[in-house]
Amino acid sequence: MPTKAYAAQSATTPLAPFTIERRDTGAQDVVIDILYCGVCHSDLHTARGEWHGVRFPSVPGHEIVGRVRAVGDKVGRFAPGDIVGVGCMVDSCRECASCNEGLEQYCEGPHSFQGTYNGWNDGSGENTYGGYSASITVDQHFVLKVNHPEESLAAVAPLLCAGVTTWSPLRHWGTGPGKKVGVVGIGGLGHMGIKLARALGAHVVAFTTSTSKVEAAKALGAHEVVVSRNPEEMAAHARSFDFILNTVAASHDLDAFVALLKRDGTMTLVGVPETAHPSPSVGPLIFGRRAIAGSLIGGIAETQEMLDFCAEHNITSDIEMIAMADIDHAYDRMLRSDVKYRFVIDMATL
Ligand code: ZN
Ligand code: ZN
Repeated sequence: MPTKAYAAQSATTPLAPFTIERRDTGAQDVVIDILYCGVCHSDLHTARGEWHGVRFPSVPGHEIVGRVRAVGDKVGRFAPGDIVGVGCMVDSCRECASCNEGLEQYCEGPHSFQGTYNGWNDGSGENTYGGYSASITVDQHFVLKVNHPEESLAAVAPLLCAGVTTWSPLRHWGTGPGKKVGVVGIGGLGHMGIKLARALGAHVVAFTTSTSKVEAAKALGAHEVVVSRNPEEMAAHARSFDFILNTVAASHDLDAFVALLKRDGTMTLVGVPETAHPSPSVGPLIFGRRAIAGSLIGGIAETQEMLDFCAEHNITSDIEMIAMADIDHAYDRMLRSDVKYRFVIDMATL
């Protein structure tokens, strides 16, 4: 069915109105009228062709909250009127070891997972179109239930990428009571990391390069805030962290944070830097059996777990709502880190 959307026609053209075709409703499909879509840095990199293999036209958006309009014959978990979410994936091979363990983001099938946008389309080899659109049709396996109250739905949208990207590593590395957890960077990802680690019961220390963010980090739930440019403040935390979640995508010295890990501590990176980080020193890893790891978004089961946890603990993202037509301006502001902490598009403005 023809569907209103906003698309970039090439890496150098701004996003503009465009009509896309959504597939006919299959037996397993959920047709969702999109209410809100969060704006992720991946959207910007894709729309502006900064990543390898971007296909145009490009319709970004993978932090989707909407209302079910229709369901296919075999859909039992959802009904018209339900509030649902769609995150970064809309399909995967469903046969490999990772898919079988509910970790579809690490799908080992021939195509990896199918991205909500810029993903492979069954058979045709064309593009998938994301959430900057009036509606989306998604297989029920990749649709999430949203239990937050109606008035907070816009602020739920960023949980579908920023939320689960921080939740998955926090859970995998055992964040909870009695653990000291660091969160590096206080942006779209980091602000969720702080909120979630706090709600999971950890002692949370936020790291920022800017003294101006200290009070904001405390307001988000950090017990302590360290200005990472200050060597004395850093030294005071040497060998004390069980886990550090590093959300910073800019190239920086990882050794300074490795030194803060306890024996057997892990620092996990969730941001991909444009220019590589300086290679970490091996000595501090060996002398302390410390690890540097990576983590990619989260599986469907853990995304649902995160949404349920957030609904129960009254957690949402801190957002600024924008109209669809303001998207390029919002991208420019994101590049200046001029947003607290996530833009969300009100899809009624499409
Ligand atoms: Zn994202
Ligand atoms: Zn798979």
